[in-house]
Amino acid sequence: MDASQSPIPVVVAEGDGIGPEITRATLRILDAAGARIDWKPVVLGQVAYERGVATGVPDDAWNLLRRHRVLLKGPITTPQGGGYKSVNVTLRKSLGLFANVRETKSYGPYVPTHHDNMNLVIVRENEEDLYAGIEHRQTREVTQSLKLITRPGSERIVRFAFAYARAYGRRKVTCMTKDNIMKVTDGLFHRTFDAVAAEYPDIEAEHLIIDIGAARLADTPDRFDVVVTLNLYGDILSDIVSQIAGSVGLGGSANVGDRVAMFEAVHGSAPDIAGQDLANPSGMLLAAVQMLVHVGQADVAQRVANAWLRTLEDGVHTGDLYRAGSSIERVGTQAFADAVIERLGDDPLHLPPVHYRKVDLQVDLPEPPVERKDLRGVDVFLDWREGGRDPEVLGPALAATAKAVGWHLKMITNRGVKVWPEGFAETFCTDHWRCRFHPADGAVTDFDAVLRLLAAVHGAGYEVIKTEQLFDFDGLPGYSLGQGE
Ligand code: NAD
Repeated sequence: MDASQSPIPVVVAEGDGIGPEITRATLRILDAAGARIDWKPVVLGQVAYERGVATGVPDDAWNLLRRHRVLLKGPITTPQGGGYKSVNVTLRKSLGLFANVRETKSYGPYVPTHHDNMNLVIVRENEEDLYAGIEHRQTREVTQSLKLITRPGSERIVRFAFAYARAYGRRKVTCMTKDNIMKVTDGLFHRTFDAVAAEYPDIEAEHLIIDIGAARLADTPDRFDVVVTLNLYGDILSDIVSQIAGSVGLGGSANVGDRVAMFEAVHGSAPDIAGQDLANPSGMLLAAVQMLVHVGQADVAQRVANAWLRTLEDGVHTGDLYRAGSSIERVGTQAFADAVIERLGDDPLHLPPVHYRKVDLQVDLPEPPVERKDLRGVDVFLDWREGGRDPEVLGPALAATAKAVGWHLKMITNRGVKVWPEGFAETFCTDHWRCRFHPADGAVTDFDAVLRLLAAVHGAGYEVIKTEQLFDFDGLPGYSLGQGE
């Protein structure tokens, strides 16, 4: 047997909810198609928690994942609003799976869709953004979640999107952010996009604000090709596009890093239909098809994908796709798998057959520029409930405290809106006050001076709950203005 014929070790986790049944269906199809895989089963998520593994990922699973570097994963339930942290997010971040690639096509008229010509790829940044999960309750009234956007993280995903577009012959990359509001974080992502786009003159590049971008994606998806975006926006967009293509049950996704890759369906564990043989295994199957291409078995991937297309064309549909009139037979999860297995070796008759080849996308990051970093001020956040919450009480007293130690109180905001000086009586104020100070002489300052300011503010009886330093980078402010500043 030559090396290309020897089985490739792939870690497989069936997940929970509909996970076990769609994984079983998928593995049956892959085995029947002649996939040369040495499956390494592991337990992840809910079942692991129930066995007392706090992270949801047992040590033997980490060891196998780091040794074999490829994972096919069923969906995993994550509790909402409390409970354990998401295993999906833990896996993506711990294994450095920075790119989430979700290809979405429509298969009309065989799968009912409003958009017959959809063929697009969402490239979602997979490690950063609000998914850092760094959240705090800071006052009785106010909670916060830190949105972390980094330069290397933005650069890596944007470079990946352009390299992907060029490798797969796609003509356009669209970036979506909300940098009209989040000028520092989303602004970094957008600026990175513009800089990398200039290196790819053969690929059309455009930027859309996420709200109109999402609306256009839902309305005219055929005008998009590759979409690159931040983690949260990408999460939402990929569900929208799978749903409008026909069903969330149809989407497969690849989570790609420099060393490890994880393949999974777009949808979740669907507890409402779990254990009833109702789930569509197609999302998991298409994830497995991407996995086969990744491990160098494009021939098997093609056999599976074409048999699957033929099954859809023949009108053999699970309940989520079944429409009286256009569908021929309504089947359960395992019968759908049987129908695909029966068609292995067949190509679709009307839909274009797929052809796969393995492409290695190498993303190299250039050396970051060396920038001068100067401390120009500090935002001090207070929990303050006295004085009828009147900024005209807080402002002058705090300004006098700061002046005595060489600092100037520039403004106070509440929920980001300037309330002092010259605020509006109409502005609603919570118990969370951001007070912006600069050195009275306008010079560059240092942390010792910040500590003197904090000691004075604390000594005057105010409750300091956090600070943010205000830095300039090469003379440009690294912080946003207050609304109305
Ligand atoms: P979901 O995707 O599980 O279900 C949404 C709807 O789509 C449900 O009506 C469900 O029945 C239907 N559906 C989903 N997959 C289907 C399939 N293969 N065939 C037919 N119908 C299907 O989303 P949810 O209900 O918001 O989430 C349920 C759980 O899954 C949550 O705990 C969530 O955190 C988790 N989740 C996990 C992943 C993952 O493992 N990558 C992704 C998303 C959600």
